[in-house]
Amino acid sequence: MAKVGFIGVGNMGGPMARNLVNAGHQVKVHDLSAEAVNFLTQAGAEDAGSIQGAAGGVDVLVTMLPTGVEARTVFLDNEAIGAADQDTILIDASTIDVATAREVHAAAAAAGRRMLDAPVSGGTVGAEAGTLTFMCGGDKAVFEEAKAVLGGMGKNLVYCGGPGMGQAAKICNNMIAGITVQAVAESFTLGETLGLDRDTLFNVLSTSTADSWCLRNLCPVPGPAPATPSNRDYQPGFAAALMLKDLRLSQAAAQLAGVATPLGAAATATYAMHIANGGGHLDTSSIIKIIQGDKD
Ligand code: NAD
Repeated sequence: MAKVGFIGVGNMGGPMARNLVNAGHQVKVHDLSAEAVNFLTQAGAEDAGSIQGAAGGVDVLVTMLPTGVEARTVFLDNEAIGAADQDTILIDASTIDVATAREVHAAAAAAGRRMLDAPVSGGTVGAEAGTLTFMCGGDKAVFEEAKAVLGGMGKNLVYCGGPGMGQAAKICNNMIAGITVQAVAESFTLGETLGLDRDTLFNVLSTSTADSWCLRNLCPVPGPAPATPSNRDYQPGFAAALMLKDLRLSQAAAQLAGVATPLGAAATATYAMHIANGGGHLDTSSIIKIIQGDKD
């Protein structure tokens, strides 16, 4: 079993770190939120007290931070890289831009540390169940060595290529997710306006060609799928502001690569309007509010 430092134990990092504790790893955690740290110490983790405290003396350091800004703060400004032991594997599981991921990889390499970018898919449901998909970029041998710890949090561990390639795979995935969540919200709004019962519509869609992970796990109306965030006033889950961040990452990458992504652009615009209306803290499925003109 490994010694693991974990920085960022929020909606995703919290259950991921807890699964590592349950798998028998020795885990110490750090977060700006004392509440988030308490949640983990009650589950059997140690309070590392600081970024440096979490990074030092461990076999693996996992970070699960909101954006590239925080990843930069933790790895570069607050020197998690410098605080880590020479043979510690650094794993950034946050979803961030490819350029920052590569910059952090380069800083780690310059300091002689091994690193993976390893964003995840599967949502808080997958984080709780330990069934996440990890998309990993970096050295293949480091990926193979990290599997022992990644396997405590996820079921599908995919090597995607060199530094930043995990992030590239992740924004491709989330561009589809953002588009799909909006499509599902449009369908429920149209169906109910036409007079369809929402349970009936859900039963049809979930057994037809329109079925999707987003429909079943992020059904935008309360009732048909009781475990989804719409049943708890859209408490995340996956915040709409984070979805907008990922859609914008996809659009920035598409522009640089010269690739046309018209549906991705449309979903980005819809999420931007929803966030401007104050919906950023709500689950991504709350996008239905902007489709409905906030009637629900
Ligand atoms: P979150 O906001 O719930 O958790 C992030 C945590 O990082 C918070 O607890 C925050 O206090 C902590 N943090 C921020 N800056 C810090 C710092 N400088 N030092 C220490 N701790 C710091 O976010 P989340 O939903 O857990 O998402 C985390 C990442 O995972 C994001 O990049 C997101 O895009 C990605 N992701 C989220 C989901 C999801 O369903 N929520 C799914 C897949 C990927």
